[in-house]
Amino acid sequence: MTAPRTANSEEDMTTPEQPPRAALVTGAARGIGRGIALRLAADGLDVAVNDVEANSGPLKEVAGEITATGRNSTAIVADVSDADAVRTMVERTTTDLGQLDVMIANAGIADVKPLLETGPEDFDHLMSINLRGVYLCYTAAARQMIDQGTGGKIIGAASIVAHRPFPLLGTYSASKWGVRGLTQAAAMEWAQHGITVNAYCPGIVGTAMWDHIDEKLAENEGLRKGAAIEKYSELIHLGRVSVPEDVAGFVSYLASHDSDYMTGQSVMIDGGVQFA
Ligand code: NAD
Repeated sequence: MTAPRTANSEEDMTTPEQPPRAALVTGAARGIGRGIALRLAADGLDVAVNDVEANSGPLKEVAGEITATGRNSTAIVADVSDADAVRTMVERTTTDLGQLDVMIANAGIADVKPLLETGPEDFDHLMSINLRGVYLCYTAAARQMIDQGTGGKIIGAASIVAHRPFPLLGTYSASKWGVRGLTQAAAMEWAQHGITVNAYCPGIVGTAMWDHIDEKLAENEGLRKGAAIEKYSELIHLGRVSVPEDVAGFVSYLASHDSDYMTGQSVMIDGGVQFA
């Protein structure tokens, strides 16, 4: 295994021209994934972006935004619940960008309903993306990083509901709790290869996903649209819901060598929220 590439190592002083590190971000056509992809590009990484076919238009636009900054990018349509598609996605990233240094398993969906109204098919569908998808991305990335002998950074999307429940998010909560467990297990197994594995746990982030949750919560509680977000915002110490950039700033740290001594953690970025 070669030493991690750092900004201030002796090697860098003798060979200033280091190739850019390369990242892959899933679910990057919008929301938090898009925010992370743009932030990593601003940090100087080349960034492959992924999303499903239905979001291929916005996905290409994100890749275009990255190349406009002077970094390389490639847009890869793939469903993260499909093992072959994930393997191919990692192969394409390494072909197009040289190698894979940072994997961000961000893609996820929410299902907002009581557990007793959640059928087995609903459960399996959500788990196939939120937990199986993260497992497939983590393992495909780890295999690539081990083959390269470079070490790397593997980072997953969990949530504050990986630490405590939230109304109507039972299955979602179970999937994110699973990501937390997977992150700890992977961190333990892959430390010997110089790979760190951590997860970010956002609170409320103003994205399309939260709009959907807000609408369902409002329906359930007989509130007007937007009222649920106002109600839960009052429980946030910092007095506002977050934006993708709030999460991307922390993921930028996890993806950098500043976090080299951190692994197996699932960290909340929630503005100090105090749900019951
Ligand atoms: P979003 O719905 O705005 O964006 C998610 C993206 O993932 C979409 O572009 C979607 O097309 C893509 N996606 C969905 N299924 C996919 C699949 N099978 N394969 C590839 N891509 C797929 O959601 P967001 O708010 O940006 O959330 C991003 C991540 O952060 C998710 O894992 C989510 O669970 C997590 N999260 C979000 C919040 C929040 O408040 N928004 C809070 C905690 C955690």
